[in-house]
Amino acid sequence: MSIQVKSKREVYLDHAATTACDTDVVKAMLPYFGVKFGNPSSLYTKGREAHGAINDSRKTIAKILNALPENIIFTGSGTESDNLALFGIARAHQTKGKHIISTAIEHSAVLRPLEELQKQGFEVTLLKPNEQGILDIKQITKAIRPDTILISVMYANNEMGAVAPLADLGREILKYRKENKTVYPYFHTDACQAAGYLPLDVEKLHIDLMTINGSKVYGPKGIGLLYVRRGVKIAPLILGGEQEKNLRGGTENVPAIVGLAKALEISQTNFQKEYDHVENLSQYFYKLLRENISDIKLNGPQIGDERLPNNLNIAFKNIESEAALLYLSENGIMCSAGSACTASSIDPSHVLLAMNLSPQLAQSSLRFTLGRENTKADIDYVMKYLPNIIKELREINQINSK
Ligand SMILES: *Cc1c(COP(=O)(O)O)cnc(C)c1O
Repeated sequence: MSIQVKSKREVYLDHAATTACDTDVVKAMLPYFGVKFGNPSSLYTKGREAHGAINDSRKTIAKILNALPENIIFTGSGTESDNLALFGIARAHQTKGKHIISTAIEHSAVLRPLEELQKQGFEVTLLKPNEQGILDIKQITKAIRPDTILISVMYANNEMGAVAPLADLGREILKYRKENKTVYPYFHTDACQAAGYLPLDVEKLHIDLMTINGSKVYGPKGIGLLYVRRGVKIAPLILGGEQEKNLRGGTENVPAIVGLAKALEISQTNFQKEYDHVENLSQYFYKLLRENISDIKLNGPQIGDERLPNNLNIAFKNIESEAALLYLSENGIMCSAGSACTASSIDPSHVLLAMNLSPQLAQSSLRFTLGRENTKADIDYVMKYLPNIIKELREINQINSK
């Protein structure tokens, strides 16, 4: 006999933290946990079979990026890909220059390695966006110096959804190189949040290195890739076997690689449909929020081309976002305050602060990131609770401040 527990409704609105693995992705991965378990480096059939699966995945992904298969390096996460790009370029090219340009709104997977590189004698220029979270291309290109070896700018921001004008920036960097007859600076982008919603053609974007991971595109967690343009040398982080052209030692995570390729394939096939679906829901949600809750502010760009279609980051004046998260969670609603990666700290988000939000407003902000499986009914459910929660928290806040 099974005990039936009446399950509470769950509404997941934290797709920027991670996405559920698509059932077709799981299906594609399963054989590689089972009968097709061979080590890709082994020469007998089982090994060749696993090796073949990696090759096919590489080809699938290369096509999506408009790249060559040999330019895709599989890693263990988006974080590892970012580390490999930054340390990899820094170590391989430090004799040519020790200056790196990036932005104050990058993910910690970029900011922390940059801090480490600074300790090792590199100079880092971090540029700030405007109050909408938009970066100024001219400001970035003006910061280029003869010793600048790398520019790293994220494609789309994980906290407030701003989309960077990568293609325009890429073109400006190319222009600088041509005029100065140099191959530097190389251009890296962290595209983890962009991969499901924005074009990934590395030629059109003029990108030299690109980070993508599985866990944000309905693929498995613990898998990433770094695209590295032909002719761009990087130093490896992990030494061991000769896997991934000696750039990433260790037996490949075959099921996860197969899953990442499948996930990217699915998101490319349904590109416009997915984009429209989450954008419609975001607009529906935002309209209801404005109609039902006073004193709110959309952090980041207006809904449109400069913003990820699934991201609503909202400052609710005079509340503590941490408390709101708890109340929402009690009702089965999952979203986040700032980024999940800093969820254990109560510091205001570095991204919102870089946009000149006050620490108070930053700490009163909630991030809702919608996804494939969300429906209007999910939003209606959230609106049944959220206005009351905000109202109560504001009342508590008022009592406390007296
Ligand atoms: C999630 C994320 C990462 C880190 O990816 P992991 O696979 O969790 O290591 C890096 N950059 C951005 C923009 C992200 O959203």
